[in-house]
Amino acid sequence: MKIASLPNLFARFTRGATPPSSRACEQCGATSLKRYLATYPVHLTGKLKGRRVDVYRVELDRCRACGYLMPTPEGQAKVKRCVKIGKRVILKSMG
Ligand SMILES: [Zn+2]
Repeated sequence: MKIASLPNLFARFTRGATPPSSRACEQCGATSLKRYLATYPVHLTGKLKGRRVDVYRVELDRCRACGYLMPTPEGQAKVKRCVKIGKRVILKSMG
């Protein structure tokens, strides 16, 4: 598991440095975010353009002001992992 070390390090850093409530929306800057679990669709590019990988139960912060969705560092790590696996499955099914 070579890739696991980086997100873990990042998660530990953000957790230690800033409490979750101090996160701000990347779109409008509002700091009122609601944390919840949701399906996060990822649209693939390149060779797999037009395909989509749905990552279930991703931890997200949803902006209360504009509705913008941001995966938490943990959620982001999960999305990355699942997209990697999803791509492999799609490639396999294409032969
Ligand atoms: Zn916002």
